[in-house]
Amino acid sequence: MRLKTNNVLLIHPPVVRPCEPPPGIARLCGALKRRSIDYDIIDANLEGLMFLSQRPLVVRDTWTRRAVSRVERNLEALMQPTAYQNLDRYKQAVYELNRVLAMQDRNGNAEVSLANYQDRHISPVKSDDLIQAFESPEKNPFFPYFERRLSGVLEKGHPRLIGFSLNFLSQALCTFAMIGTLRRLDPTVRVILGGGLITSWMRRPGWRNPFEGIIDGLVAGEGEASLLSLIDREYSAESEVSDFDKFLPLPYLSPGFILPYSASSGCYWRRCAFCPEQAEANPYRPIAPSRVISQLKSLIRSLNPILVHFTDNALSPAMLKALSREPSAVPWYGFVRITRQLAEPDFCRALKRSGCAMLQIGLESGSQKVLDGFSKGIDLKIAQRSLENLKQAGIATYVYLLFGTPWETELDAEKTLDFTVKHSETITFLNLALFNLPAFGPQAAELDTTPLDAEDLSLYRRFTHPAGWHRQKIRRFLDTKFRRHKAIAAILRNDPPVFTSNHAPFFTNALP
Ligand code: SF4
Repeated sequence: MRLKTNNVLLIHPPVVRPCEPPPGIARLCGALKRRSIDYDIIDANLEGLMFLSQRPLVVRDTWTRRAVSRVERNLEALMQPTAYQNLDRYKQAVYELNRVLAMQDRNGNAEVSLANYQDRHISPVKSDDLIQAFESPEKNPFFPYFERRLSGVLEKGHPRLIGFSLNFLSQALCTFAMIGTLRRLDPTVRVILGGGLITSWMRRPGWRNPFEGIIDGLVAGEGEASLLSLIDREYSAESEVSDFDKFLPLPYLSPGFILPYSASSGCYWRRCAFCPEQAEANPYRPIAPSRVISQLKSLIRSLNPILVHFTDNALSPAMLKALSREPSAVPWYGFVRITRQLAEPDFCRALKRSGCAMLQIGLESGSQKVLDGFSKGIDLKIAQRSLENLKQAGIATYVYLLFGTPWETELDAEKTLDFTVKHSETITFLNLALFNLPAFGPQAAELDTTPLDAEDLSLYRRFTHPAGWHRQKIRRFLDTKFRRHKAIAAILRNDPPVFTSNHAPFFTNALP
């Protein structure tokens, strides 16, 4: 399919946390702008959530009435730094907005929040259900917004190519409902669909496109090359740079503009046995650290962000080293792996001077046996030193723990509890997750697994845990023991609800 037109519209569909622009679309914008191609964007996530939260609502209970009466004030508050100076006030604003969104589905099918979208009857991992969302878009609570916004844009701009970026399951049903609305308004417009979730689906072994006749093209991986080829332009990875100009004026729920930036795609480590990066064999493509630094300087100069969010799976040691040499007034955060670098106090202090406000660390377990089992490449002694050094340097830590991997027993989970308690003073935020087995990774073949019935697009599989450490037992352990420990409960209370790591840096000493 080759198009002769330059008129492109890029859409970020609901629902994901509406706190920063979508980095994938910003990369596409950069590629189009550099070639002087007319394009526009719609952040339908942000607009859709604003639409739903401000729609009139008939309510009877006091809590909802109060939440409705404070929508404007709460939206406004989340865009101001003062709301982030008091965690309780912030929590109240977020919970009240979520309450209003939860009450907005008049058919009683959907559950909408600031971070998620679910439907009680249809699933985002069943292709038949996605087609149903496409065929009956009026059942989606965002439908009045989709219809009004898309008809306006079709009348005004005549886009001939519309690209949707679908990255998370929470966006899937709304994406198909939005495309269904679009097709009703104009069956001739070309629709392409890309993004992280589409990439994961298309990289499954034996992939067969169930959306033929609905979507004109599905794109796996970085979309710039595919989009440019549709309009007869060449792509050159070395010279591309994201463009955020159209996102800059949008009212994201953050106390200033957050600049999302990827210094790489894929993961430089790619050895963790449970990780989709390994299961999907995604290639690692870093941008040279010197180029990252110069691109960032230029973006910071033109956009004046309050925070830089590195969206890499893990910032490489070379990238961290380059950052540590560049003192900056703009705070930043992102995922890193525990390596010997962080065990050096001087290095952590240099990172702090470079603006590092918070590091997200996939520690996963406090049991060395478990970490070695899935090739995480973490030495717990180095992890302990790193956490201490980061604390000393004034860098917050967001530590991710994973329970229920095939290598873990209850005893190992107890070791994770002990490790976390012992080092609780060095952990600022905590994320606790239950292990999901990637359906097509090498481990799936070694375990006793059951496919998830009719969920033909599921990326995960149920499995029988070799040590009987099942999800029900893990949940009980987490609820009755882990979360209840005084030291851990105190860390969990620090977490900004709903926005979690996206807003966590604002609850450190990161803001000037
Ligand atoms: S470091 Fe993270 S992204 Fe990289 S392989 Fe391990 S889990 Fe996956």
